Amino acid sequence: MCGIIGIVSRSRQVASDMYYGLYGLQHRGKESAGMVTSECGEKCCFQGEMGEIPIVFSKKILERLSGNVGIAQNRYSTTSESSFENIQPIQGYWGGEEFWIAHNGNLINTEDLREYCLNKGRQPSADSDTAAIASLISLTSAFSFEQAVKKTIQKLRGAFSLVILYKDRIIVVRDSLGIRPLCLGKRKDGYIVASETCALHHMGATLIREIDPGEISVINRAGIKKYYHPSVTARKFCIFELIYFSRPDSIVLGRRVGDVQENMGRLLAQEHPAEADIVIPIPDSGNYGGWGFIEVSKIPNGQKAILRTHLISRTFIEAVQELRDQGVDLKFVILKEKVMGKRVVLIDDSVVRGTTQKRLVKWLRAAGAKEIHARIFSPPYMYPCYYGIDTYRVKDELIAKRNKGDIEKIRQELGLDSLEYLSLDLAIKAIIETPCVRKPCISLKPDNFCAACFNSRYPVKPSKIN
Ligand code: AMP
Repeated sequence: MCGIIGIVSRSRQVASDMYYGLYGLQHRGKESAGMVTSECGEKCCFQGEMGEIPIVFSKKILERLSGNVGIAQNRYSTTSESSFENIQPIQGYWGGEEFWIAHNGNLINTEDLREYCLNKGRQPSADSDTAAIASLISLTSAFSFEQAVKKTIQKLRGAFSLVILYKDRIIVVRDSLGIRPLCLGKRKDGYIVASETCALHHMGATLIREIDPGEISVINRAGIKKYYHPSVTARKFCIFELIYFSRPDSIVLGRRVGDVQENMGRLLAQEHPAEADIVIPIPDSGNYGGWGFIEVSKIPNGQKAILRTHLISRTFIEAVQELRDQGVDLKFVILKEKVMGKRVVLIDDSVVRGTTQKRLVKWLRAAGAKEIHARIFSPPYMYPCYYGIDTYRVKDELIAKRNKGDIEKIRQELGLDSLEYLSLDLAIKAIIETPCVRKPCISLKPDNFCAACFNSRYPVKPSKIN
């Protein structure tokens, strides 16, 4: 998963703006980050490095990145290695001019695209799907760069939200199903696109609208122009963005993500009530859902029984199970006196491998909890995602898949006294019924979501599903 940003300003240097924007998107990936800037289409300046934002960009580097047009990305690898060559934005050439591309999402036909490029005598600069897109654009003859982009995206299969820097402008692209988010904001001095509205907020911009599925738009100093804007016939937004990935203050499909999760928690309490003394939302992923559950169940809020240290972040990113276990142990502390002798309900957004639940159950038992129940505000995570939530490379580790969806077996493996999941119908109902904080409200239908991780209905069929 990744975060992307594009900015065009009429009057300001944009590097420090993008720095703050990237900070706001670090929850989407922090293996590496990069940005590229250009002064009115003159030669571009690039900085990219492995690591988190403050490591990649010092004050001195930001000063060197001059220009009032730029794009940036932070990366959590979904195709290919987490390595220097795969840092984005990635450079390409079209018609002798350089362009740069940053991508959020994941293609399912990268191998075919690479082969196509190699057959045409062009070796992509890295093994990522994004490098393949850059090579494809370079190979495409057209009367304009925008046309080359349009022709190229017809060959892409999967999820892609793209920002491309070319000369004095940015080309913004979203796949025809709108699987990954992308939004457009404005500031007095220009326009900004970003994966999430939380980045717009940190860059001092206000949301204009979300980029539509299938849309290609061009932004320059004169403003934004829709280059290609087919009517939205199918929308398949990733449901996991709303359950877990996007930041709770972000606005997606007109709804505040935290409000959606709170609603999921409310419906979870109705669908699967629990008898307990306290409800502990697992911070931070279970917070909003947990508050919704508490509101409906009227069980006292036990959030003070758990401390989450913020020096450790998303621990699933660790490659080795032992490190993930340690990460969870470093991340959470149970306050013994608050759980001793109590019946506890844990609320979380999802159970992927089960690492978090297993470790917390261990520590809660050690702290003397009498009963431990878990209520999850999404269905069992059964099937790998090929569109950017990186579960296809770890599919055999998915606890629900390993246990063939048998909730009783999962409960036993996690060591819980009871375990229940929100049904998919109610998860979707929770989203649709969440009031919009932006007008006009995007009206949604149950089939507007990709929920393949829960129901295996892949909107773009991967060649091998297993
Ligand atoms: P786990 O400990 O693997 O059950 O996962 C615990 C938390 O991390 C949950 O909040 C999940 O939503 C999140 N999570 C785990 N793995 C992934 C992944 N590959 N991509 C996104 N989120 C994940």
